[in-house]
Amino acid sequence: MSGWRGLFVKRYRVLVIGAGRMAEAIFAGLLRTQVEHVEGIVVTNRNNSARLIEIKEKYDVTVTHDWREYIESVDVVLLSVPPQQHRELLTEIAPYIRKQLVITVAAGIGLDLLEELLPMNTPIAWVMPNTASRIGESISLYTCGQHVSPDHRRMLEVIVAGIGEAAECTEEQVHNLTAITGSAPAFLYLFTEVLEEVTQEYGVKPEMARKLVVQMLFGSVAMLKQGEEPAKLRDDVTTPGGVTAAGIEVLEKRGFHDILRQTIYATNSRAREML
Ligand code: NAD
Repeated sequence: MSGWRGLFVKRYRVLVIGAGRMAEAIFAGLLRTQVEHVEGIVVTNRNNSARLIEIKEKYDVTVTHDWREYIESVDVVLLSVPPQQHRELLTEIAPYIRKQLVITVAAGIGLDLLEELLPMNTPIAWVMPNTASRIGESISLYTCGQHVSPDHRRMLEVIVAGIGEAAECTEEQVHNLTAITGSAPAFLYLFTEVLEEVTQEYGVKPEMARKLVVQMLFGSVAMLKQGEEPAKLRDDVTTPGGVTAAGIEVLEKRGFHDILRQTIYATNSRAREML
């Protein structure tokens, strides 16, 4: 960024703890789409030098096994470790937290544990991204603690913008929508696998089965993205007594609505047990 505009662009230093798939999606997204806001990225991981070397080579960010060297000089500390690791990690970082924004992306975690273990008044946020973060197409939900200032909120918005779309919700909503935005991609992939399986049973080669099913999904989602109503789109394909109606009848008789609802409720209750 050059010229006058560049003088007013805020640039942030980000420490990412945990160098797994989600962490990579986030810092890669920052570097790809928000680089004018990036002053520096430091990535750390537990006991995995090979992973840190790979990240260093691929992204040219700072990597370290000793986050203590950096934590006090960054604006954002992003925790991308499993939920079960949070209690220990939050206890370790707490003495070094002054005014950094602390963000976690852990499924099911909520804000309570961060509030309990970090110093009073720490700005905290919980972000629930999804797997499409990897290609910048996430829908991420986020919720902020009470000490998040407008400045912190801008930092948070820069971070989530790097991985796709985002929506601020209440903490309760993030808990409840985890199944929909976070886990439902897996349900859709399972649906895809079954369609591919059956397509192959009809003698279609795997590559062709993949192509047919993926393009069908893509076209269907593209129509939804244009703002068309799902019920109307379904009606358009479903002549009463016709071909598609026979299939819908099976889904309904077998309790499709109920199966999907139970799937979502079970996912959400498991997320709350993850700590
Ligand atoms: P992952 O297993 O790929 O990565 C986790 C990384 O954390 C590993 O590299 C591990 O070595 C490191 N780690 C564990 N404990 C650590 C510690 N104490 N200090 C430093 N590093 C530590 O997992 P992931 O899929 O990247 O998930 C990371 C977080 O993101 C999880 O909390 C998960 O709930 C959340 N999340 C992931 C997705 C997704 O689609 N992958 C979606 C939403 C949320």
